Amino acid sequence: MRVLITGAAGFLGSHLVDRFLAEGYEVVGLDNFITGDPENLAHLTGNAKFELLRHDISTFTYVPGRFDGVLHLASLASPVDYLNHPIETLKVGSIGTLNALGIAKANKARFFLASTSEVYGDPTVHPQVESYWGNVNPIGPRSCYDESKRFAEAVTMAYHREHEIDTRIVRIFNTYGPRMQPHDGRVVTNFIVQALTGQPITLYGDGSQTRSFCYVDDEIDGIFRLYTKGDNLPTNVGNPREFTMRQLADLVVELTDSKSEIVTRPLPADDPKQRQPDITKARRQLGWEPTIALREGLRRTIDYFRPLIGSPRMKSRAQKLVG
Ligand code: UDP
Repeated sequence: MRVLITGAAGFLGSHLVDRFLAEGYEVVGLDNFITGDPENLAHLTGNAKFELLRHDISTFTYVPGRFDGVLHLASLASPVDYLNHPIETLKVGSIGTLNALGIAKANKARFFLASTSEVYGDPTVHPQVESYWGNVNPIGPRSCYDESKRFAEAVTMAYHREHEIDTRIVRIFNTYGPRMQPHDGRVVTNFIVQALTGQPITLYGDGSQTRSFCYVDDEIDGIFRLYTKGDNLPTNVGNPREFTMRQLADLVVELTDSKSEIVTRPLPADDPKQRQPDITKARRQLGWEPTIALREGLRRTIDYFRPLIGSPRMKSRAQKLVG
């Protein structure tokens, strides 16, 4: 069995490469490294079952050999990254998804789309169940991400209906863990890096907005189960345990034993007020359920970041983002 994974050097992409290799698959990874980092796959150097190609899936793509599956993970997924690169974000969700679907069609392969809880926008239904259509601002600053993923879902369903491709769509809720980029601007990385370096912890708004955080090992297990035994309609995969951002800030300060103070900053435009997945479908269909609590997952993530603080790798990533 051989699969193609786009966005292979990213946070989730690289963990998924590891999982497929562990399950005995051959893997070809594509990445243009706009936000991914080849360091995330450095441990696979010399692995005969893995190949990494530098390539932008939003441009014409031909990859030799046959594939049983195509998994489209490539995307700028952090709000800071997609606000800095809105056109690339729209391209990879639209043209990139079409190109990846084309490869699946040519190979009669299964197609797997990494979608997002952002398709629900600032939700008026809580928790979010797959049948909810969402509350998205089509022209706001987050629309480049939200609408490109909504388009990606639409075109995936169209290929399923018209070309009978066996498709999967996962709606990923906030996921965290080792291999996140330290300067990706997301809340978990910001808070941990700030706490470990003694900088103020930047709480946006009054900190009452909520998110539900899933540890990466749980998320990857849900994704793999969905790939192998899910159905063609979207499935939420995330941890339903919901926290306010203030609770998260307090927990990070406690776990890092930091002296950092918590300061408030303005809430970004269209920032969803609440988010929690309804995972009834994943529980029933995949027998999946997250097992790692936030406290334990944060401990492991802090252990990953602590030795990186001040290292050349951390600096080069920071410089890359500035550049
Ligand atoms: N947030 C925050 N401080 C930060 C970064 C983010 O309070 O330094 C908040 C942000 O306003 C949002 C939540 O944390 O309400 C999650 O933000 P993130 O960028 O991680 O992802 P989102 O879930 O919004 O896509």
